Amino acid sequence: MICPLCNGFQNVDVKCQRCQTLLTDSGKVTDFFGPYSAYEEYETLGRIEDDEAMEENCIHCFFCPACGNLQQVTIFKG
Ligand SMILES: [Zn+2]
Ligand SMILES: [Zn+2]
Repeated sequence: MICPLCNGFQNVDVKCQRCQTLLTDSGKVTDFFGPYSAYEEYETLGRIEDDEAMEENCIHCFFCPACGNLQQVTIFKG
């Protein structure tokens, strides 16, 4: 399974929770924060079949150019 965003054949329009500006895809969370902090972040969500969930989903980091808000968006692969 592949992530459509990582492979560039799909764009996802996500709006900022704060100001409704269209967010910019800043790439995978692991690219953005580094694998270690992404893992930490993931841990706080609760250990729900970690590896399996990471296998089926790609967590992207979206950045709001207007207010600087960062949002994580889970992209389902396949
Ligand atoms: Zn991806
Ligand atoms: Zn915003």
